[in-house]
Amino acid sequence: ETAANVPIRTVCCIGAGYVGGPTAAVLALHNPHVRVVVVDRDQKRIDAWKGRHLPIHEPGLGDVVRAARDGTSDIEAGTEAARQPNLFFSTACIETIKEADICLISVNTPTKLRGVGAGRATDMAAFEGACRDVAMYAKPGCILVEKSTVPCKTGQLIKDIMEAHRPGVVFPVLSNPEFLSEGTAVRDLMQPDRVVIGSESTISGHRAAAALANLYAAWVPRSRIAPINIWSSELCKLAANAMLAQRISSINSISAICEKTGADVGEIAKSVGMDPRIGPQFLKAGLGFGGSCFRKDIASLTYLSESLGLPEVAAYWQQVLTMNNFQRDRFARHVIATLNNSLRGKKVTILGYAFKKNTGDARESPALDVIRILLEEGPKSIAIFDPLCSEADIKHELSVLEKDFAVCKPDGPVEVLQDPYTACADSNAVLVLTDWDMFKNTKPAPAPTKPTLAESYDGATPTGVLHITPKLEQTNLNSKPPTP
Ligand code: NAD
Repeated sequence: ETAANVPIRTVCCIGAGYVGGPTAAVLALHNPHVRVVVVDRDQKRIDAWKGRHLPIHEPGLGDVVRAARDGTSDIEAGTEAARQPNLFFSTACIETIKEADICLISVNTPTKLRGVGAGRATDMAAFEGACRDVAMYAKPGCILVEKSTVPCKTGQLIKDIMEAHRPGVVFPVLSNPEFLSEGTAVRDLMQPDRVVIGSESTISGHRAAAALANLYAAWVPRSRIAPINIWSSELCKLAANAMLAQRISSINSISAICEKTGADVGEIAKSVGMDPRIGPQFLKAGLGFGGSCFRKDIASLTYLSESLGLPEVAAYWQQVLTMNNFQRDRFARHVIATLNNSLRGKKVTILGYAFKKNTGDARESPALDVIRILLEEGPKSIAIFDPLCSEADIKHELSVLEKDFAVCKPDGPVEVLQDPYTACADSNAVLVLTDWDMFKNTKPAPAPTKPTLAESYDGATPTGVLHITPKLEQTNLNSKPPTP
């Protein structure tokens, strides 16, 4: 009745980004007899996946890609035995879709910038485009998998698109949200807490879910593969991200009280986290969450709630975002206040641009919000150093500020430097905005003013640390940057 009856021989993954690339690579590694082809419209990205320098940095990713793509070694078995390459990267989207038994859609689903729901609703243009390509060119019975994070009920949208293009042809639709975190993507994919597979309660739905589950079962214990209803699956991804972000906003709200009372948020996080009902994870106060997912997924959840006639639910989750903005704002205002309420003629250094350590992803970094506020004060210069984010990516992100300010040199005050010491030279304030290990022991030398905000954060991996200092001691930066 459907292709789910036949074994899966070819997987097409549409979207070669932070999710598509690593997911496809791990899938290929563990299913050596399945051909996995990752397609993307972006020729440069595909060329990078084929080459020596992968387009994204993730610890361990190079080994997995090389093993599956080049057949260099069997890293799982720890031997150097050759294997047949079964991971391919291509821009030939249509040709690949035509051959596929299963298409994973892992394209970007950002927040809509304009029109109805701007700033909150999910922009489904790329996702719909990929679905249309599958609808028009896939073999009948090809299984379509939502890997991107999408609003609840997207499965219905896909079915409507399929029906409009190929009336009467069965294309089972599954939801298989990705829970990986950037910086630990390979580990998260190799040892997932759970693999959620949502399907419709029909025979073809169940068969399709079983076919996808079989691919995962090559390395994931069956007990961790959860077959659930498709709408639950779509919504559980938004719920998981919203609840993780909520913990960060919760502890940050407490940090604001700490700074006014002398309580220590690090001690509080530790004590609170010892309660097993709460647990210690995700309780680190700092600049708040960044990255391409948490904010947009909560925005999507609030929009969804409102469109379902649930404004109270929308308002509840909106507060998580409000708290996150407050934290950044508070930090930036504190920097300005500490520098006598003016940045005229002063230099500020920003150590760390990535939204968290071990990733080169510059999207939606807390640093952008801090820089926006600092620029209002007309600083002489803002020097940025990050061990992994490329200068081009950082400048691309900063370009959204251009409508209000001249940002980068020569017209504006901002420059991106390749060396942390040059970035810190003659600076009036050094702000640690990413929890990179290399900044962990960063201290002013000889500390003329004690770090202020730093005191209220747990010493392990603080962000939002402010040093008022002309220089950093050379020895205090662990000078080894991460290896790509
Ligand atoms: P990304 O922007 O890094 O990659 C998406 C890729 O899709 C881009 O390279 C783009 O060129 C390509 N693309 C878009 N439309 C296409 C089309 N029609 N045909 C071919 N290629 C197309 O995005 P990402 O960070 O990998 O995220 C992908 C999805 O996964 C999003 O929905 C995101 O919310 C979700 N997600 C992301 C993470 C994360 O940590 N980044 C984690 C879990 C889930």
